[in-house]
Amino acid sequence: MPKYIFVGGGVMSGIGKGVATASIGKILQSKGYTVTAAKIDPYVNLDAGTMNPIEHGEIFVTADGTECDQDLGNYERFLDVTLSTDNYITTGRVYQTVINRERNLGYKGKCVEVVPDIPNEVISRINKAAKNNGADFILIEIGGTVGEYQNLLFLEAVRMLKIQKPKEVLFVLVSYLPVPKMIGEMKTKPTQYAVRSLNMAGVQPDIILARSVVPIDGARKKKIANACSILEEDVISAPDIKYIYEIPLNFEKENLGNRILAKFGMRQKKVEMNDWKKLVRTIKTAKKTVKIGLVGKYFKTGEFTLMDSYISVLEAIKHAVWFYKRKLELHWISSEDYEKDGSKVRNLKKYDGIIVLGGFGKRGIEGKIKAIEYCRKNKIPYLGLCLGMQLAVIEFARNVCGIKGANSAEFSPNSKEKVIDVMPDQKVLIKEKKYGGTLRLGEYECSIKKGTISFKAYGVKTVSERHRHRYELNNDFRAVLEDNGLVIAGVNPERNLVEIIEVKNHPFFVATQFHPEFKSRPLKAHPLFLEFIKAAIKKQRK
Ligand code: GLN
Repeated sequence: MPKYIFVGGGVMSGIGKGVATASIGKILQSKGYTVTAAKIDPYVNLDAGTMNPIEHGEIFVTADGTECDQDLGNYERFLDVTLSTDNYITTGRVYQTVINRERNLGYKGKCVEVVPDIPNEVISRINKAAKNNGADFILIEIGGTVGEYQNLLFLEAVRMLKIQKPKEVLFVLVSYLPVPKMIGEMKTKPTQYAVRSLNMAGVQPDIILARSVVPIDGARKKKIANACSILEEDVISAPDIKYIYEIPLNFEKENLGNRILAKFGMRQKKVEMNDWKKLVRTIKTAKKTVKIGLVGKYFKTGEFTLMDSYISVLEAIKHAVWFYKRKLELHWISSEDYEKDGSKVRNLKKYDGIIVLGGFGKRGIEGKIKAIEYCRKNKIPYLGLCLGMQLAVIEFARNVCGIKGANSAEFSPNSKEKVIDVMPDQKVLIKEKKYGGTLRLGEYECSIKKGTISFKAYGVKTVSERHRHRYELNNDFRAVLEDNGLVIAGVNPERNLVEIIEVKNHPFFVATQFHPEFKSRPLKAHPLFLEFIKAAIKKQRK
């Protein structure tokens, strides 16, 4: 039977609950236990697939094709596990199951009630996730902040589970302690209120992670302990830091892992953090940089840059950069800039490598194509991800094969030269407006052609990578593209779909229909990102 560790947030959102959850898992793993994690999102959406990244952040895709919250990406990266649809719970999913069960007479004539039937479904979903992964611990992060209406039923599930299994449930509150400038002192009162809200829901925290700009001091630990009825040593300092992968090490300095184990009457079996520590040392000490430009469009909201929309790509680049003991210098490039002023594209030559990111819809497309053309012609290492592959094909068709009207059915449905087109099965879905959960999603096999850059990178004939797209390279144009020198480096054998393209006589021009970034891990950088960064470093040396 697994132990349950719930992680909830106090005071405000955006304080790193996901990374805190992943870090707790990492610590327990390092002490010899198996760990899995699940995310509860209080929204009514069945999944994150229909949400705009600017609103929601990255849409992470699991191996089994669930479009979910980016925190599942954090869990996979920190814990090096593969999660599934069962590790993702939303209000929409819970209600849909309960309503369907009622329609099928699953409640045997009983009146179905919000409480306890909804929390019961939450508990059964958590148990399913734990069982599937057969882990010693399941971490369950509850999205949102305590005190808000939306996550009450999930807290009710915690309360009920704690009655059922008093010794197997722990609640960690990640709370924010502001240090207002005009006072210059860390304030504990908002956290005290957060704990009171939690108490009103019938839940008492066992551990409080004190998130703040600086470490919490002894006096304030004591204050929180007194006011919130927990032990001083269970108030864990969690100051802002620059590198998320350092967080497990910082928590360990506060003895968090053994505090958790002690509460369950368990002990550490071993301590194995050396590789992780080495990685953190590299991250903190690397001096030489690699300069990468990311061309996309989901990172502007007002005056702020949203890094969250592409977090897995960002992490995958970093993993590869750290492998080469370098430091990443990253620049966000809005493709729309090149549409306003085409000559700006020449700025791309100052980068060691360029990535054109995934995306949906017409906005910014022509700017991206200009950037790709520049990289192809000027031999700048180029990695195209999903849309970045489709646009590379359009660029090649237009400028190398002379198919001037080449386009994608997504942007120009009436074009005669749709080098990127939609599959027949997808056409039906679009017509019926069945958008949610119907993209080509999750892992599919890809056969890699020998002699290509991709083959050199992967070193194997078959790989499996995660997808999230509706459109594909149109096989009708394959011959003309290949005749003009485009390399089809990877193909899905089952449906004969192009998965990877390359351009010859170029130091690195590789673009994938899939999203390799989802499978990169801090200590196991993805082969394509490794090869891309290698080429970028080579360009820099020149
Ligand atoms: N919009 C494109 C498609 O649906 C690419 C999607 C993506 O980049 N993830 O096929």
